[in-house]
Amino acid sequence: MTQTPLLRIAVPCPLRQAFDYWAPSSATPEQCAPGVRVRVPFGRRELIGICIACPAEPDIDPKKIKPALAILDDQPILNTPLLNLLTWTSQYYHHPIGETLCEALPSALRQGKPSDPLADSVITLTDKGTQALADNSLKRAKQQHTALERLSKETRVLSTDLKRLEITPVTRRALEKKELIATHTETHQAWHYTPSQIGHTLNDEQHHAVTAIREANGFRAFLCAGVTGSGKTEVYYQAMEPILASGKAVLLLVPEIALTPQTLNRLAERFHVPVVATHSGLSDTERYQAWLKALYNQAAIIVGTRSAVFTPCPNLGMIVIDESHDTAFKQTSGLRYHARDLAIKRAHSSNIPIILGTATPTLESLYNAERGHYTLLTLTKRAGNSQPPKIICLPQHRDFQQTSGLSPSIVEAINACLAQKKQVLLFLNRRGYAPLFICHHCGTICKCSHCDTNMTYHREKNRLVCHQCHRMQTPPSHCSHCEQANHIPYGLGTEQLESACCEQFPHARICRIDRDTTKNTTQLKEQLNRIHDHDADILIGTQMLAKGHHIKALTLVVIINADQGFFCSDFRAIERTGQLIMQVAGRCGRDKEPGNVIIQTALPDFPPLKQLVNEGYLTFARQLLKEREDASLPPASAFAIVGAQARSATDAEHALQHLRQWLKQHNDIPATLLGPMPALCQKINDTHRFQLGILTSNKTQREHLLLRIDSYLLHHKNSRVRFLLDVDAQALL
Ligand code: ADP
Ligand code: ZN
Repeated sequence: MTQTPLLRIAVPCPLRQAFDYWAPSSATPEQCAPGVRVRVPFGRRELIGICIACPAEPDIDPKKIKPALAILDDQPILNTPLLNLLTWTSQYYHHPIGETLCEALPSALRQGKPSDPLADSVITLTDKGTQALADNSLKRAKQQHTALERLSKETRVLSTDLKRLEITPVTRRALEKKELIATHTETHQAWHYTPSQIGHTLNDEQHHAVTAIREANGFRAFLCAGVTGSGKTEVYYQAMEPILASGKAVLLLVPEIALTPQTLNRLAERFHVPVVATHSGLSDTERYQAWLKALYNQAAIIVGTRSAVFTPCPNLGMIVIDESHDTAFKQTSGLRYHARDLAIKRAHSSNIPIILGTATPTLESLYNAERGHYTLLTLTKRAGNSQPPKIICLPQHRDFQQTSGLSPSIVEAINACLAQKKQVLLFLNRRGYAPLFICHHCGTICKCSHCDTNMTYHREKNRLVCHQCHRMQTPPSHCSHCEQANHIPYGLGTEQLESACCEQFPHARICRIDRDTTKNTTQLKEQLNRIHDHDADILIGTQMLAKGHHIKALTLVVIINADQGFFCSDFRAIERTGQLIMQVAGRCGRDKEPGNVIIQTALPDFPPLKQLVNEGYLTFARQLLKEREDASLPPASAFAIVGAQARSATDAEHALQHLRQWLKQHNDIPATLLGPMPALCQKINDTHRFQLGILTSNKTQREHLLLRIDSYLLHHKNSRVRFLLDVDAQALL
């Protein structure tokens, strides 16, 4: 009699280990494999875990091992390379294996939904539909006409593509009722790439980049550092072509969902292969469908945000990370992984090329390029006929507050731009009307009673809002300190800038994009469409508008209050602010008309800013990198943060002091410990946050130290303090 196989299961719980179970008697041999979901008894509950190994010998006394209840998949849904990546992730970020694996699965699969391949639900134009389009007989029903037009352009439309094509369920039903379209179910068809639309003729720099990437044989990481508008997208596309032609899939990571609709349509038009999107803006069902499509090779191109790095792609041929400098690739709670680093790891183990594209590479990426870990490909010129924008620094005007940032020369520049029927972008990274609400009599500032923040005044809502905990309150009628009734809003936010623009430029159409005006992706899409269709002249935006957008008629960018970010106490503040400024600046002059950028600053002589403006981002960044190396700060050293959170500041701080003391006695690994120090915003939602920074000269040393810290935390449980570990932290807490 053969023995029942053992399954080692990672269970979704905060424990650092996996647990052994006997396979259920109903299981087939194919099912007993790493990567299948297994329902198991766990304490008094039943949980769905994932088999990570089938060991020959159990870890514990065999008599204590329980049988699993059921195996939910006929074959592994996480293949070996992905399982290896996730195991590595769990170790590298010191995060429980069960919770790490959970991160990779869409919630429907975590809850036990089946993992069988989905049948394709294909939508086609009927003869009547084709006729209606040709006769233009639907011109009164504009949406239906547009829908038919869009459907006719695609080779094979699935019902899951309708959202991307912006065809609503109502329009779909109307067309079905009129029998202009029909839906039928097909078993899945393999996709084939047939070259159709030819891209741009590459310029020399692009050509060099594409050739280098195409010549990569197996793993190689490329840092494609191309100034804004240099045609990086064309480089990615032409690099992807031979991969798709050989039947392999491409994973494209983007920082923001705001960028995906544009990207998806561009890809679908160019390649005529199934493109799927996966990001947190989708419903659970949509994510589940996208994941299964990727798993069963029904997707040729997978586009997604951070978590898409965990999408199963059994036949992956290339990874592309667009805007790879973006901090959105690092998760800042729970499993604090960096999707860029995991993507590199994944490309390495899959032995495929990976492209990190950006106009503003992080110092880490430059450091890796300098050491030969990445191949640096630079695109120094804008593609086509467009010119680099002309950037000037404008000293902040005395009347900054009275004019709401619109000093006379800025007004003049905006008027000139509007007179030419062009668009202008005013960038201000602060939403609301004013960041401060002050008693005019005694100067007392309204603060959040649950956080270490000043309340932001929102005039449209007539509320004070805390941007940390989102609490709102009616503006006080009297000062809590001197009891006078005389409050004024102070400082500048996008709401105020908008109303100032309405007064200054009464004839201009104004569109403000920030988190208050775009509550959901539909609203955001509508506003972006307005911008792209030139239905707005003045765009006012926070960093939501800074990224990736290609707005043709935009020729003037004004960065209001640009240096806000330079003076944050994080050692990356200058790098990040420089990136943001260059990204915003890069939105303009991308078509034939040249662009102008005005950086309004209180410190026009600040050396890094001068260098950024006069010598460009790469020189600026290399200088910063040199300073980091001299100071042995990341990327010249390995960094991590141990955070402590507690109801009382003393508890949080003491916990870290105690850890520091303990390390002094029990640790012989050379390391610099920074702190404990309060987080940049010490109190959020009545929780006090402290941090201990750890610097070692390399990652191996850091790993030894972190293992020691793990064991300390395991043996010094403190019910009043919650600890967290941020490996390769990208920002101070
Ligand atoms: P980036 O991502 O580098 O900021 P894009 O890829 O958006 O830039 O390209 C900017 C513009 O240049 C796009 O309109 C693109 O169609 C165009 N473009 C790219 N490559 C070429 C080329 N070789 N010749 C002409 N136009 C190009
Ligand atoms: Zn608050």
